[in-house]
Amino acid sequence: MTEWIWLNGEILPMSEARVGIEDRGFQFADGVYEVIRLYGGRPFALDEHLQRLWKSAVDIQLTPPLTTNALAVEIFGLIAKAGISEGMVYLQLTRGVAARNHLFPDVVEPTLLFYVRPLPPVGAPGSGEGVKLLAVPDERWKRCWIKSIALLPNVLAKNAAVAAGADEAVFIDCGNVTECSASNLFAVINGKLITHPIGTKVLPGITRMILLEIAGELGIEVDERALGEEEAPRAEELFITSTTREIGWVSCWNDIYIGRGRCGPTTIALHKALKQRIASETRAEAPMMVSAVG
Ligand code: PMP
Repeated sequence: MTEWIWLNGEILPMSEARVGIEDRGFQFADGVYEVIRLYGGRPFALDEHLQRLWKSAVDIQLTPPLTTNALAVEIFGLIAKAGISEGMVYLQLTRGVAARNHLFPDVVEPTLLFYVRPLPPVGAPGSGEGVKLLAVPDERWKRCWIKSIALLPNVLAKNAAVAAGADEAVFIDCGNVTECSASNLFAVINGKLITHPIGTKVLPGITRMILLEIAGELGIEVDERALGEEEAPRAEELFITSTTREIGWVSCWNDIYIGRGRCGPTTIALHKALKQRIASETRAEAPMMVSAVG
């Protein structure tokens, strides 16, 4: 089946898509990205993802070439053409092609692209194997709120985790847990939900944000604070969140079992409520509005 990509206003087969050698994304990782999950062919939390894309772009002094509304129309068009129901949209925006120079070019022609990929649906809450975490030093830059395509520290951390027999790397900064290589981390301690506050050290995950709302609705107390490296593996429950995984329960921290290696009740309750929210917001008749920016 042909895989379609939207590249700078044109839809073409992925195999025919070309980006210049001097694209600043390629040479400097000068760009930002988003990943949006599709359920039944409908994007979940599209508005939140586009708002975050705009914030990431503004924070690297880059103006997206389309408004949020125009981009949403194009995304819906590509989803329909791709005919993919369960999957994700990967979207990337770079400062475009220019003669190699650290200085921004005088005239910027951004490269904007996105494509749709199938993904298997996430299993029922609490089902499947738990995620094994490996703790690694957080060696990333100090602007982790920007969803930058410069992901080498995350890539190295993830590979170190898998090489050690784990699934995901959890970053430790000055004795505190920040987040994981491609997900936010939550702990349940004395029934309270704990996660690192947003700011310079973590990505403001869309799943994280929605989950905090859901926790409020379920009457689960939330404490947004840094979790100590020693404290985390003693938590009653640990889980990670991301757009593609929803919620992944953690079974091991290095070699320590969490919650006797079983998914805990708070994680299950939150994941059930998240699935309900996804189902209600992506049902065929649900309105899909985005806030106007750009
Ligand atoms: N932190 C990092 C470093 C990530 O790469 C991701 C996933 N892109 C997340 C957190 C989770 O963010 P979201 O829920 O928006 O997918």
